[in-house]
Amino acid sequence: MVSRVIPVDPFDLVIFGGTGDLAQRKILPALFRRFCAGQWPDDAQIIGAARAEYTPDAFREVVAESLRSHAPAQSRNADALNTFLQRVDYVPLDALSDTAWDRLAAKLADDRVRAFYFSVGPQLFGQLAERIKHHDLATPKTRIVVEKPFGHDLESARALNATLAAHFSEGQIYRIDHYLGKETVQNLMAVRFGNMLFEPLWNSQYVDHIQITVAESVGIDGREEYYDRAGAMRDMMQNHLMQLLCLIAMEPPAKFDPDAVRDEKLKVIRALDPVEPHHIVRGQFDAGPSGAGYRDTVGNPRSTTESYVALRAHVSNWRWAGTPFYLRTGKRLIERSSVINVMFKDAPHSIFGADAGRHANVLSIRLQPNEGITLKVTIKEPGPGGMRLVDVPLDMSFAEALGSENQDPPDAYERLVMDVIRGNQTLFMRGDEVEAAWAWTDPIIAGWQARGDVPKPYDSGSTGPGDAELLMKRDGRRWQGINP
Ligand code: NAP
Repeated sequence: MVSRVIPVDPFDLVIFGGTGDLAQRKILPALFRRFCAGQWPDDAQIIGAARAEYTPDAFREVVAESLRSHAPAQSRNADALNTFLQRVDYVPLDALSDTAWDRLAAKLADDRVRAFYFSVGPQLFGQLAERIKHHDLATPKTRIVVEKPFGHDLESARALNATLAAHFSEGQIYRIDHYLGKETVQNLMAVRFGNMLFEPLWNSQYVDHIQITVAESVGIDGREEYYDRAGAMRDMMQNHLMQLLCLIAMEPPAKFDPDAVRDEKLKVIRALDPVEPHHIVRGQFDAGPSGAGYRDTVGNPRSTTESYVALRAHVSNWRWAGTPFYLRTGKRLIERSSVINVMFKDAPHSIFGADAGRHANVLSIRLQPNEGITLKVTIKEPGPGGMRLVDVPLDMSFAEALGSENQDPPDAYERLVMDVIRGNQTLFMRGDEVEAAWAWTDPIIAGWQARGDVPKPYDSGSTGPGDAELLMKRDGRRWQGINP
């Protein structure tokens, strides 16, 4: 099955922070892959902007090197690579200064879609928005793309929303959460709302509980200062896991349009109960074969920042009353894996007797690695003799199901950057969603600070602190393996 490529309108995309890690490793390779897929119109260009005094040619060389590393298959096509590089330009520019904006303006066309990607530190987001407006670079077809983190707490997120709103309408602001660009996340909506099979069962009557795991095997890698101020709660839970929770728990929107979807997600966040302190486990990784312990890594021997958090959340509404949502995320865990497990209830009565054991259906939605969906169903173990039951997976790995050209599903950034150009905000967070997520997160963090909470140590390369297992065990449940 070949996916259809619909070309976008002509565009100018300015990447502030074009020389940085995110731009070089994710954004530019994503744009190149879309270029190779034929999604670019003839009239489209990318302009990198950062303080480094590159000439356009020197910047192109940097980009070429990154593409060879991060889009190796496509960059082997020398013609494609050279044609793409001709569409790449560069302007040295300091976001904190008023010089050089006229040079940037001179490179932009009046009538094209104009997107400004803020791939710089969050302290520059407000300044950039102000300067784009002040230097008259905003047109009716202008969009701004704002990276994470969007604020540090509710107050700072509100302040940033207010600054952006002073210069741009909500319809022009694209707050990125790259989890929403993952193919499986969108498939979650297709599975839920495109099939009759699941929706009647998608509630507390049939679902025992839901587990959302975002496990990383890496540590903090060059982000020590930021991470020690943020921790897993701010860095992952408030945004990525919250967004996944919303997509699992939300009511069917009337249509698949940006505000209808985001209205339903917002209702979920607003229906979240405050989390009881004994329903949260915080952890900090110890030293292990893959490196130093957390405190040595961040160079802060007294740090009480968590590199792991697990919690039990409740969505207090008609559909989910009584169904817990267990969420966990951490660094330096045994595997890199993001998976949502919808754990259905046992059949109300087993006609096969106690010896047949307990069997419940599990719908696993794997975001990474090996994106796909698995449904565990109970069948009879083959062979003569008694009626022995066994759980087997009905596996829908997208690569297998959809053919070889889907072996490598598009990176989330490919989808999201093209959505910006198309003007489709469905997979981007709205300002009120971000604020509601912080309003839920802030009291949890304030509670830790008030109690002087210290995270529990856990072994690097493990599944996290033992208390996270207890969180489940107390409820008579257990985590599914990190990599099912
Ligand atoms: P980075 O590697 O430190 O790059 C920062 C970029 O900003 C560089 O190009 C830098 O170039 C430029 N810059 C810094 N100060 C500037 C100024 N005053 N004016 C203009 N440009 C300036 O950071 P990054 O990892 O790419 O992250 C960028 C943003 O994406 C951050 O908000 C981060 O939180 C977010 N993010 C990153 C990742 C990731 O995987 N890297 C993932 C999710 C979100 P010059 O020094 O030459 O100016």
